[in-house]
Amino acid sequence: MTQAVPGKAVPVPTPETQPFWDGCAAGELRIQRCTDCGRPYFYPRQVCPHCGSAKIEWFTASGDATLYSYAINHRPAPGFGDAPYAIAVVQLAEGPRMMTNIVGVPNTPEALRLDMPLRVRFESAAT
Ligand SMILES: [Zn+2]
Repeated sequence: MTQAVPGKAVPVPTPETQPFWDGCAAGELRIQRCTDCGRPYFYPRQVCPHCGSAKIEWFTASGDATLYSYAINHRPAPGFGDAPYAIAVVQLAEGPRMMTNIVGVPNTPEALRLDMPLRVRFESAAT
């Protein structure tokens, strides 16, 4: 389920990232994988960062991840929400890491434990 978040910055898709954002709008975490070496990766690119192959495909990731690292931002730039909030790096179950926010738990050192299990959740910007 998505929910509107008024006042937050809205990403601008590029041709390379459009399938990712389309997946987000559909409630799916879509990432790419190389059909030559089989390894998934993120962020979106037209060439595999592992072997250089241009034979790539999009697939829907499980949405499961663990918390790899984070920093708590107390002074956000305009359009980035109410502080404090965590700027996190999560390790997807499929292998790639991605930056994200953590929602559903207090963004405090006491509540954010490294390696804690996470599940993707999407927010939509109010338009
Ligand atoms: Zn590859």
